Amino acid sequence: MSTLLEGYAQDRLLLPVCASCGAAHLYPRPRCPRCGGTRFHDQEASGRGEVTSFSVVRRAPSPDFTGSVPYTIGLVRLEEGPQMMTWIVDTPPDAISVGMKVTMHFADLPGGERRPVFAP
Ligand SMILES: [Zn+2]
Repeated sequence: MSTLLEGYAQDRLLLPVCASCGAAHLYPRPRCPRCGGTRFHDQEASGRGEVTSFSVVRRAPSPDFTGSVPYTIGLVRLEEGPQMMTWIVDTPPDAISVGMKVTMHFADLPGGERRPVFAP
């Protein structure tokens, strides 16, 4: 299985890559979604991707997020292929668009977890 959370602890996004077909995927699964293979190795993501969808959150879902609204949650397609749901930061929501190129860095989220986020 993947070491996704171990990678997060080191500010690294580690993608499971199938030993049979070479496809990277996220989230980690016991079988490759392309070929059903069960052996993987980890590959560090380049951190480059493209916004494929996004939504602006204007109402805090819990008290931890009160000081963060509005913020943007988006789908980013990594250049390695998988898509991930993530925060899009350091840019006003009105400036974000589908197809925008973004790069990853790690940040402490309002709930206290350290996770990959993306910015233009
Ligand atoms: Zn595969």
